[in-house]
Amino acid sequence: MLADPVTNLKGIGEKMASDLAAMKINTIADLIYYLPYRYDVLEIKPLNELIHEDKVTIEGKVVYEPSLTFYGRKKSRLSFTVQVENVAIKAVMFNRAFAKKQINAGDMITLTGKWDAHRLQITVNSYKKGLAEEQTKIQPIYSLKGNITNKKLQKLIQRTLLTYENEIKELLPSSYRNAYKLPSKKEALWAMHFPSSRIVLKHARRRFIYEEFLLFQLKMQLLRKIKREETNGNAQHYDPLKIRTFITQLPFSLTKAQKKSLNQILADMKSPFRMNRLLQGDVGSGKTAVAAICLYGAITAGKQGALMVPTEILAEQHFQSLTELFGDQAEIALLTGSTKGKKRSEIVKAIEDHEVQIVIGTHALIQDDVYFNDLGFVIVDEQHRFGVEQRRTLRDKGLHPDVLFMTATPIPRTLAITAFGDMDVSVIDELPTGRKEVKTYWIKENMLDRVLRFIAKQILSGEQAYIICPLIEESDKLDIQNAVDLYHQLEAFYPPEVNIGLLHGRLPANEKEQVMKQFAENEIQILVSTTVVEVGVNVPNATIMVIYDAERFGLSQLHQLRGRVGRGDKQSYCILVADPKGEIGKERMRIMSETNNGFDLAEQDLKLRGPGDFFGKKQSGLPEFKVADMIHDYRALETARNDAQEIIENNLLEEDDDYIDLKNDIEENTIFTDKLD
Ligand code: ADP
Ligand code: MG
Repeated sequence: MLADPVTNLKGIGEKMASDLAAMKINTIADLIYYLPYRYDVLEIKPLNELIHEDKVTIEGKVVYEPSLTFYGRKKSRLSFTVQVENVAIKAVMFNRAFAKKQINAGDMITLTGKWDAHRLQITVNSYKKGLAEEQTKIQPIYSLKGNITNKKLQKLIQRTLLTYENEIKELLPSSYRNAYKLPSKKEALWAMHFPSSRIVLKHARRRFIYEEFLLFQLKMQLLRKIKREETNGNAQHYDPLKIRTFITQLPFSLTKAQKKSLNQILADMKSPFRMNRLLQGDVGSGKTAVAAICLYGAITAGKQGALMVPTEILAEQHFQSLTELFGDQAEIALLTGSTKGKKRSEIVKAIEDHEVQIVIGTHALIQDDVYFNDLGFVIVDEQHRFGVEQRRTLRDKGLHPDVLFMTATPIPRTLAITAFGDMDVSVIDELPTGRKEVKTYWIKENMLDRVLRFIAKQILSGEQAYIICPLIEESDKLDIQNAVDLYHQLEAFYPPEVNIGLLHGRLPANEKEQVMKQFAENEIQILVSTTVVEVGVNVPNATIMVIYDAERFGLSQLHQLRGRVGRGDKQSYCILVADPKGEIGKERMRIMSETNNGFDLAEQDLKLRGPGDFFGKKQSGLPEFKVADMIHDYRALETARNDAQEIIENNLLEEDDDYIDLKNDIEENTIFTDKLD
């Protein structure tokens, strides 16, 4: 059986078993699904196309008997001449004296090895007598542990496949398989391990990519369906007229993208299903404005709303701007870690008594003793800063409240439909009109003096600047600019009337807030900070963002930081101080200076970094595919998503025998109780 331990196979000793275990191969199924992570394609090319120092394959006729020389202890060198396209090529082979007997003048031979274009010489790694049967030889390369070699593993897999191939379940319904002309799973597995040609390999990969995506999409969509069925009956009967009036009272008119997102959210609120929606949009695109309108909608439906944000500074800012926006149309409360004692108990009681309609806060919102009277609408800002548990705790303070997640980290469409396959996604992909693009420059450290003088000039005309450093403490290993040091340097550089503030994560909360306040009120003109300012602070008078060691940040984070400026009507600047060593780093800096749109940037970031890195390790939760690549195989992903929809809508898993293996696989490999949030 495929589920049997791999040690049931003949010839697997203790050492090999432990090496296999280190490769996470425990069962026979693990072994045959242990796919190569890449393929070396050895193609016989004309001599003039061979690249110096590349690994190449050539074929030709041996013209003289090989000559063997020994040197050192037990070292040997076998050399011979091969005629390829009428050119004499020298072949050398080290420490394989035995080959002398096998290679004779007049033999046809195929050689693979490193090419020296200057000497017309090949250093042979492997050879085969005779001409290659195919013009292309494809060598699968596996990732290996311990004593296991590529060859050993291949032999083992071959043996195992021969014995067990008839147990391999097809999984894909024949209708889809036929429609896309995909090979059977058995054929495809053989082809992945022993590809006979590029074409065969390509189709095998195509099959696995589709299968992985289809399974993934089916699971996500089933999950979503179950969630919806579970959460019947929370339709919010808001008052559309009042909402409309509220919107006309706003000091601006909504952008098209805002309207569209708003309509999607309102439709969700009205429906009896619990909303589970992600609202994404660049910094300053007006997400909070949309959120405010929805909160207002919830109030007109007689519900309470809660907005949870990751930091106190942010909570206060939202509190202020919402209080202004709502005027006396809603009772709003702020609940953070600093809300203490009598004040806190008053607020908590008011929430419980429904005297407060909107609560804005940090984690303090989800403490045990905070009860809502009728929480109908929950917003989680910068959702990735909260754990699944925290988000759930807030949600559970209401009875199936509608939940809106907001993020200013633009997530490429590609990722959004996979990572959030069980969420609906709204996108605000335009900025309100009249915003000036932030001019972005990439400089090396030796131009810093000029930057500092530029800052001085802008400060004279009343503006302010952020200077961001990656880390707070000096580290020997990472030669990182130290915020404290920099602060002292700047103090020395600027005249005393320029006030400089220092902000970093180690400061006590009240000091942080003090500094932020001073900056917001222009008592401080230059704020030296670690990335604690990253999230949401709004100081429209700040027009310069200098980022030290910019190569240490990902593109999305740089973009977030850049979003701190360009909030007023003045021209703003972002200056990246970086000296990246690698090409990718340089590419990042170039992209940053050329791209202002967060979604474009995210798409490029993803390409540079790959999806695993995109969200950072902690909250990735992204599916791992063996063969498929979400970016590269995006089309297949869309196809699979549509097919999954079709399968679920038509209830084919339950009703069609052709889907039985698929159904079983999903049931065996998915836990449907309250998963993904
Ligand atoms: P986000 O939450 O996406 O960062 P906000 O909702 O805080 O963005 O909006 C940023 C700023 O733009 C706020 O000052 C807000 O009042 C303003 N704003 C929002 N929507 C519009 C609009 N449609 N037109 C003009 N200004 C807007
Ligand atoms: Mg609803």
